[in-house]
Amino acid sequence: MAPRLRILVAASEAAPLAKTGGLGDVMGALPRALRGLGHDVRIFMPRHRGVEAHASEIRTIVPRLAVPLGDRMVEGALQEAETPAGVPVYFLAQDQYFDRDGLYGTADGDYWDNCERFVFFCRGALESLIELADGWRPQVIHCNDWQTGLIPVYLKTLYRDHPVLGTLASVLTIHNLAYQGVFWHYDMAMTGLGWDLFTPAGLEFYGKINLLKGGLVFSDLLTTVSRTYAEEIRTPELGNGLDGVLEERAADLHGVVNGIDYELWNPAKDPALPRPYSADEPEGKAACRETLRRELGLEDAPGPIVAMVARLVEQKGLDLVLAGLSSMLDAGCQVVLLGSGEPHLEEAWAHAAERHPGRVAVRLGYDTALASRIYGGADCFLMPSRYEPCGLGQLIALRYGAVPIVRRTGGLADTVKEFDATRRSGTGFLWDAFEADAMVDAVRRAAGAHRRPELWSALVRNGMTEDFSWDASAREYALLYKKVLRPAGPRPSRRSR
Ligand code: ADP
Repeated sequence: MAPRLRILVAASEAAPLAKTGGLGDVMGALPRALRGLGHDVRIFMPRHRGVEAHASEIRTIVPRLAVPLGDRMVEGALQEAETPAGVPVYFLAQDQYFDRDGLYGTADGDYWDNCERFVFFCRGALESLIELADGWRPQVIHCNDWQTGLIPVYLKTLYRDHPVLGTLASVLTIHNLAYQGVFWHYDMAMTGLGWDLFTPAGLEFYGKINLLKGGLVFSDLLTTVSRTYAEEIRTPELGNGLDGVLEERAADLHGVVNGIDYELWNPAKDPALPRPYSADEPEGKAACRETLRRELGLEDAPGPIVAMVARLVEQKGLDLVLAGLSSMLDAGCQVVLLGSGEPHLEEAWAHAAERHPGRVAVRLGYDTALASRIYGGADCFLMPSRYEPCGLGQLIALRYGAVPIVRRTGGLADTVKEFDATRRSGTGFLWDAFEADAMVDAVRRAAGAHRRPELWSALVRNGMTEDFSWDASAREYALLYKKVLRPAGPRPSRRSR
């Protein structure tokens, strides 16, 4: 058997302990999948308010952990517990920073001290590892997004020759390049790093400090959540100002597609569905469709239900669907949307539902059970994203037999294959340009296939039998970790606390 790796996954959220989005899902699933492969993986995260509701009993292992923050010391505590899936998790507790309602802010905006909170988190992670070194020493620290961006920077600067941390390798994953942790330059003092790093080759970004950029420059290896997104972020169009840095590091930048939890997302076992079904016994899906029609007040009609479940934000491109809506209805489709987000999109979609009763159904809000019923009852799942690092919606849709119709970008391009009616191969329908006509054309192709039941069954089955569980992706991560391993240093003598 391949030797067990010791990995610390550092992130600001991990489902089900704390989650605001896809990052939390990935951090909940990947460590578990890696442990399934036999590796010793542990999570390091802030002790946000409420995590105790989802973790095993929390034990304090270092009650007073002093963390340097600029010219002062801030005290936190190091604690440990397990996630419900049995993954060991270390919490960095500091109530002033992390015992708050939100993870990053409130409805009114980001917390004013986010830079300070996550400088503390990054430095605290490394100080924690020094404390833990006699019991457990990871070989690789896997950082995720801007909140952990300073960890690779510290490893290559302040802790470079440290007996415990000097051999620790770092990997940084970009889950969404649009979020970078950009703060005013005076915050540089808090990091404890020299001003010599405040240059375009270091942390400086148009006169400010950019924590993600620090990670991109200093991490041993970079990954992002699909192969296509790994290419796209090296272009000015989707590089968010960091394409130059990423181009420079192209040789170290890898795309590893996310998976979904196949236990959690399983139409044969999903308690939210009125009838279970599977690829081999697909009959229950028809009942799910009829129940969904009744629940949402849709007319009985032969055409496909085309559904969307998404955050209503610019990235998701739902304005494009509004532009193409009447053509989609003309093609015989019914349209369903579940989502919440920007008020102007919520309003526009509410109006669309009013204008087309019985044919367009909109539910504003966040509702995981309804989401399941939509994946279960829909014939097609539409994702017109402007960009999409990976996307989970299309993976869930494939598993639930809702045929994805997606724009060819990022992870959507990597996970959905155009259906070929002659060969009966492929899993969905794709289009390229961010234009309503191109989208409508793809929807028409789907509606055409839907009129041929035998063909449609083959297409649905192709999707349902694809494998986007975490196992394969976890194996890829393990290979990447191995690439960056460094020879271990001498064991340190016990530090007094
Ligand atoms: P992102 O992480 O950018 O929001 P993804 O497609 O990667 O997009 O993941 C979105 C996940 O959130 C999917 O599992 C989707 O079903 C779920 N989701 C989004 N909006 C809602 C909602 N309003 N109610 C329930 N689930 C939602």
